[in-house]
Amino acid sequence: MFDINQLVRENVKKLVPYSSARDEFSGAAKVFLDANENSLGSPIPEQYNRYPDPHQVKIKEMISSIKGVPAKNIFLGNGSDECIDLLYRAFCNPGKDNVIITPPTYGMYEVSAHVNDIEVRRASLTRDFQLDLEKIEELVDGNTRIIWLCSPNNPTGNAIHHESIEMILNNVDALVVIDEAYINFSRHQSFIRELTEYPNLVVLQTLSKAWGLAGLRVGMAFAGEPVIEILNRIKPPYNISQPTQELAIRALRETEKVNEEIRQIVKMREALALALSHLPGVQRVYPSDANFLLIKMDRAREVYEALLTAGIVVRDRSRVALCEDCLRITVGTVEENEALLAFLNKRG
Ligand SMILES: *Cc1c(COP(=O)(O)O)cnc(C)c1O
Repeated sequence: MFDINQLVRENVKKLVPYSSARDEFSGAAKVFLDANENSLGSPIPEQYNRYPDPHQVKIKEMISSIKGVPAKNIFLGNGSDECIDLLYRAFCNPGKDNVIITPPTYGMYEVSAHVNDIEVRRASLTRDFQLDLEKIEELVDGNTRIIWLCSPNNPTGNAIHHESIEMILNNVDALVVIDEAYINFSRHQSFIRELTEYPNLVVLQTLSKAWGLAGLRVGMAFAGEPVIEILNRIKPPYNISQPTQELAIRALRETEKVNEEIRQIVKMREALALALSHLPGVQRVYPSDANFLLIKMDRAREVYEALLTAGIVVRDRSRVALCEDCLRITVGTVEENEALLAFLNKRG
């Protein structure tokens, strides 16, 4: 039986969390002399002299109603990247524990592991970019704390089969983190509905992609209450700034607009995929459930360099195992996609 307490680091279990001025008094008052803020105000017209809500109650309420997940199952980070780091700090003992990643995948799982001195074990995806379940099973041991899965996966663009993720959720005593940064562009269902089913499941989403707020830095972790409570214990008290909270609240009212953009981007992705597949030198355009395309082409590195001279930046993945000769291209505006295609056409 999975027991989260067996995964939590001893120092995290024991620590007394920082209690902020905002924690110790949260009622209604007229005079706030408890937090050493500058009561005279900020030097700019916008007033940010007060500390923000450490629990981000309003944003969580809105996310709760959009996602259909109770607020107590939501944690917010300064980007998903903070959630990733906090998961290491809560559950992985430096120099002792290990995690499993499934390359080619998002780089931060590994970078953050190294920052936290955690061993990374690699179970490469199969040729069709799916999980190698046997390999994962072989790598898991008593010190495996997290299995990082990314679906739809970056940089391959495909979704991981639901059943194989379920297989892992059902058969390991580690946390299984599913990074769903691109889920809004996918035909496949989120795992967010299955939180009650799996105490070891953590789902990561973000406002950086479909919500168009990469500059704002808001990442979301969805999990059972025990996991969320632990993340709350160790997070910096004011990890989401006041302007970020205000802007996120404004953005979260615009679900209609965002959904319309998602439909548009998916349509443009399919049009771009088709156009790219007809270009000379393009060997393959991989199917995508995200807002980018992975394409395999002749002399990918040279093409990347040539695009740069035209001021067009794509991501060169040609030296990544299983992505040899591949470029990763984000779906742009109509004009940007046309510029890309025109350049590649002329060059071919
Ligand atoms: C872009 C991306 C994120 C987003 O990270 P933020 O820190 O929330 O901006 C997370 N995971 C993957 C796989 C991504 O590609």
